[in-house]
Amino acid sequence: MTTPGQLIEVQGLKTFFKVREGTVRAVNGVSFTLERGRTLGVVGESGCGKSVMAQSVMRLVEPAGKIVEGKINFYRSAAQNGHEATVEVVDITSLDYRGVEIRRIRGGEIAMVFQDPMTSFSPVHTIGDQIAEALILHQDMDKKEALERAIETLHRVGMPKPDRVVNNFPHQLSGGMRQRSMIAMALSCNPSLLIADEPTTALDVTTEAQILELMKELQASLGMAIMFITHNLGVVAEMANEIIVMYLGKIVERADVVSLFDDPRHPYSRALLRSIPRVDKDTGERLESIEGIVPDPYSIPQGCPFHPRCPSNIPGVCDVIEPPLVTIGARQVYCHLYQQDGTAR
Ligand code: SF4
Repeated sequence: MTTPGQLIEVQGLKTFFKVREGTVRAVNGVSFTLERGRTLGVVGESGCGKSVMAQSVMRLVEPAGKIVEGKINFYRSAAQNGHEATVEVVDITSLDYRGVEIRRIRGGEIAMVFQDPMTSFSPVHTIGDQIAEALILHQDMDKKEALERAIETLHRVGMPKPDRVVNNFPHQLSGGMRQRSMIAMALSCNPSLLIADEPTTALDVTTEAQILELMKELQASLGMAIMFITHNLGVVAEMANEIIVMYLGKIVERADVVSLFDDPRHPYSRALLRSIPRVDKDTGERLESIEGIVPDPYSIPQGCPFHPRCPSNIPGVCDVIEPPLVTIGARQVYCHLYQQDGTAR
């Protein structure tokens, strides 16, 4: 069903990698929706499938990987004479990953910023040329117009001396300036969705705070949605309206940010939250690390994949039966601890 502000609807997405050692089920049946102007936080330890899920939305999965099942519906909205908007639904999974349509979406309607800007910028072209190239491709501008817009966009992301920075090469900028440039490049075409994959992990805390603030300001003024991928729960608490917690390719809990931080229901969400310092709850308790390690991706445990590490594991149930989806108010949890009516078992 389409809701008025719906932007992305992911249904039963599975992205698998076939390698010599076996099949890695990097994303294994993920479903969620994201509305316009909202921020969805995606959290979990390394290797839980967050980045592959985002790459699937952009159709940028590496050659060994393939979307084997599911849909990614993108709701493209077009204003008619500045009034009523018409909505066209595009299933991104059905597109040729090298085709015209996905290139129109990628970088134009959906943009991405990564942890390391050096991986997205070419070292041999100036920042200005690289931002201009996106504008020439997606906005049908000529070179002069595109360079002017590049300077404007750099100015909008708070870049000092943008008219000089356009002539710089990426290696001539500091980490924070490179990250601002990448955000400028991502925003230059006014995307409706920005996917930010650990965008501040490589930055010092002061620069990180500035970049997060900048993203919030830009979101408020441009109305874009953000999918914010991170292993840092402190950052996601700052940024997100809603959070999905992923473990071994699956969503284990989905809730609004306040409910998740106040009262996490899935044992994995609880463990993640116990492992970070909280300034709002001075409990005097020691921080805990999560028991055990993320299992080998070639041999995911049967039943609930978290059961070997779970302190609430119910033997004979959790190690045998895959947990069902339980809806508790507006929250969704996949865990045997809850009954279908949402009460504790
Ligand atoms: Fe723990 Fe069982 Fe819930 Fe999995 S289903 S998180 S093992 S209680």
